[in-house]
Amino acid sequence: MSKFSKLIQKQKDQSLPKKHRFNLEAKTNANREGVLCPCGSKQSFKVCCEPIHKNISLAKTPLALMKSRYTAYVMGNIDYLMQSHHSSTRPIAEKDEILAWTNSVNWLRLEIIEAKEAQEEEEEGFVTFKAYFLESGIGNSIFEKSRFIKENNHWTYVDGIHS
Ligand SMILES: [Zn+2]
Repeated sequence: MSKFSKLIQKQKDQSLPKKHRFNLEAKTNANREGVLCPCGSKQSFKVCCEPIHKNISLAKTPLALMKSRYTAYVMGNIDYLMQSHHSSTRPIAEKDEILAWTNSVNWLRLEIIEAKEAQEEEEEGFVTFKAYFLESGIGNSIFEKSRFIKENNHWTYVDGIHS
C-alpha cells in the first residue's frame, strides 16, 4: 500500500467529517498526477504558485502571496517561507522546527474567508483564511487574519491574529 492509500485508510477508520475525507482523496489524486496546485486555484502548480516560488515579485497581491505561502508549507519549501516573511518578524531561529512540523502534517486544503485586495500603490493588505491539516491522523485547522506589507517592492507576510 502506498503512503497515501494508507493515510486514506487511516482516515476512513477514524471518524473525521466526510468533508475532510473527500478533500484528502482529491488532494492525493491531484498530487499523483502532478496537476493541481495545493492552494486550491484549480490551476496546475507549474502556472500557479511555482513561478511565484521562483520569483516572489510575481505575487501581485497579498492573496497571491498568502496562497504561495500555503503551497510552500504543503511542499516544505522553507526557503520560500523565510523569503516571503517580512524581515522584522522572520522566524530564522525556528526554521528547522517549522520545516520539521510542516513535513510531519498532511495539509488538506486552504479556505480563503476574506481578502481585502490591496491596490497596486498600497503598502498593506489583509487576508483571513482557514488552513486544514491532519496532525498524527487528527483533523486540525489554523484560522488567521494575516497582515502583509511590502518590503523590497514585493509583498511579505508580517504577522497574524489568531482566533
Ligand atoms: Zn497555487
